[in-house]
Amino acid sequence: MNTRILKPGAAALTEAAALIRAGSLVGMPTETVYGLAANALDPDAVRAIYEAKGRPGDNPLIVHIADRSQLDALISGAPSPAAQRLMDACWPGPLTLIFPKSEAVPMRTTGGLDTVAVRMPSHPVARALIAESGLPLAAPSGNRSGRPSPTTAAHMLEDMNGRIPLILDGGPCGVGVESTVLDVTGPVPRVLRPGGVSPECVREICGACEVDGAVMRPLREGETARSPGMKYRHYAPSGSLTIYRGGAEAASAAIRAAYDRAEAAGERPLILALEANLPRYGSRRTRSLGRDAGEAAQRIFAALREADELRAEAILSEAVDTGGIGLAVMNRLGRAAAFHIEEV
Ligand code: AMP
Ligand code: MG
Repeated sequence: MNTRILKPGAAALTEAAALIRAGSLVGMPTETVYGLAANALDPDAVRAIYEAKGRPGDNPLIVHIADRSQLDALISGAPSPAAQRLMDACWPGPLTLIFPKSEAVPMRTTGGLDTVAVRMPSHPVARALIAESGLPLAAPSGNRSGRPSPTTAAHMLEDMNGRIPLILDGGPCGVGVESTVLDVTGPVPRVLRPGGVSPECVREICGACEVDGAVMRPLREGETARSPGMKYRHYAPSGSLTIYRGGAEAASAAIRAAYDRAEAAGERPLILALEANLPRYGSRRTRSLGRDAGEAAQRIFAALREADELRAEAILSEAVDTGGIGLAVMNRLGRAAAFHIEEV
């Protein structure tokens, strides 16, 4: 199959919507990352998503809608008052809510769970594709399973070339990490995966918010993943990644020492550092994570892909503060590093 990349004009959107209605897959930009979209209500189309990604069948998909009127058919019962407030405040945007699912949503879409994850993206191309196809779209990140999520059409092509007919190129993604996944089925909203909507923000809207323990550590022996995606290796580059957490002075000193040790051992090292700290590393090979956690979110997946392109064997990364979107950056970095974090 030849994978085409098209700018999302009217003709491309009409073609993409026709592909979706015919049960095919389409790469679409969202404000978080690029998604691999298909009709969420068609089990065969959904099966094709799992196949194209090489995704385990028990890792559920997020269903994307463009209008609140699409929600009722997907969920069972009315949204709770807390869910209503969150939708009012954060939709469209990078917040996914977990609801009890309706009969209409196939078990294959929810990875066998009786709940469904729903999000209303703000990206105009994603919204136009949902509206034009007239369907809710299951759309996981458009990477092959285990790889960093794509934040440009070119990244998505790297992983999906020959596997899908079309990718709509909406330019680089604004947020850069996947949506916050928030379980609103219990008494207190619970972050299962951090993203663009922070726990602080949920707390402001609902008065309370818990963060699942597995967000910043590996699952424990025998622990059930509330968010099934948490149990799989994800985002990992080929080289070994270590995160150094501590003051800027101490972290950069530890990173310099590790870099020099790796080089002396004949390995190819690479440093990921915040812009302001780059001078601390002199002429060592670095990639900038940007000026703050927001820019780090936009760059993190591209940086991990670049580490592979450079064939970096020892990747040494600074930590970012975990306030706001920083928690999402540290969750992705942590998982890419199998939570190999050195406190310095
Ligand atoms: P991705 O599509 O790559 O952004 O991954 C979606 C993530 O949402 C998965 O890793 C799941 O862990 C999570 N998710 C989707 N549906 C549910 C659900 N019904 N309950 C809990 N987590 C979910
Ligand atoms: Mg993903």
